[in-house]
Amino acid sequence: MSVAEDAGSRSESVGHAEYDVVIVGAGPAGLAAGIYARRVGLSCVVLEKGVPGGQVITSPKIENYPGFPEIEGMKLMEAMAEHARAYVEIKEGEEVVRLVKTGDRFELTTPSGRLTSRAVILSTGSYHRKLEVPGEDKLAGKGVSYCATCDGFFFKGRDVVVVGGGNTALTDSLYLNSIGCNVAIVHRRDVFRADKHLQDSVAERDVDVIYNTVVEEIVGDDVVNAVKLRNVNTDAVDTKQVGAVFIAVGEVPTSQLAAELGIRMDPGGFVVVDMSHRTNVPLVYAAGDVAGGIRQIVAAVHGGAVAALSCFEDLAKPYFSRSTR
Ligand code: NAP
Repeated sequence: MSVAEDAGSRSESVGHAEYDVVIVGAGPAGLAAGIYARRVGLSCVVLEKGVPGGQVITSPKIENYPGFPEIEGMKLMEAMAEHARAYVEIKEGEEVVRLVKTGDRFELTTPSGRLTSRAVILSTGSYHRKLEVPGEDKLAGKGVSYCATCDGFFFKGRDVVVVGGGNTALTDSLYLNSIGCNVAIVHRRDVFRADKHLQDSVAERDVDVIYNTVVEEIVGDDVVNAVKLRNVNTDAVDTKQVGAVFIAVGEVPTSQLAAELGIRMDPGGFVVVDMSHRTNVPLVYAAGDVAGGIRQIVAAVHGGAVAALSCFEDLAKPYFSRSTR
């Protein structure tokens, strides 16, 4: 039976199954890990709490993934998931709610059952950091958005602000401008950290930039009407009428499962891995955004592949047996 045919035998729920390795999270790191793990012959499943693709699916345009000069995030991840499915089963809607080590096995609990495995690859990604200002929670989904591609369309022709100065904020502002929003970027410093080519694109487009400014409050009863902005140098507060606030102020790693296993993390909560993507806990590996680093798709794919091959080395010990013959 080919690996692809083998992967075709799918079950509806998790039930109670045993694998060499369970991969948690089906973003670029988890999908690459699944492909590599199956190709070296490990039995494996990918558990995904939502749908495959991770945060990339919310990215309007990807220009730096080799082989694709310009592609929508959703399209790239659909292709990656389809490729992975040829090798490995991806169980969607299966959030791992508990991960413990019992003897020489890991036990993973999901809403539909329990799995055991000899090894685990964590590719759980990260989630959007909040601004933590008044009005943000109350107006979430009512003009406060963390996903310009998902929600931008509703604000065509309206004044909107994008908060942040990284690649996401600038990419989002270009997207919103391209669909006809009147965009102003609000950034807390006087320089962006985004890539230069994105800064150049913003400078060429009709996008306002409000530097040295933070959002103090998001104002509105049922929907967003305005933002209160404070200049950090002068403390002057100004109210700007807007229909939406797109928040793009970085990512927080999804590392609760790693914490449960006692895995070492850096002060930002990102899982610490070595160059082979091993964590400090034997037979647990991490890749993608949860492991920090440059947080690029190409790096996530690399990390997933390395984690899977390190897992193979540790479980099959191919080099150990050869050198001791
Ligand atoms: P990021 O690079 O961490 O940038 C976050 C931005 O938000 C920074 O400008 C930061 O300001 C600002 N910020 C953070 N906390 C804030 C707060 N409480 N209030 C106001 N502003 C705040 O995050 P990102 O842009 O989401 O990017 C995450 C990763 O994904 C990066 O590695 C990025 O390169 C990658 N990415 C890549 C692409 C691409 O290559 N096409 C697209 C999107 C994302 P300071 O600058 O002052 O710290």
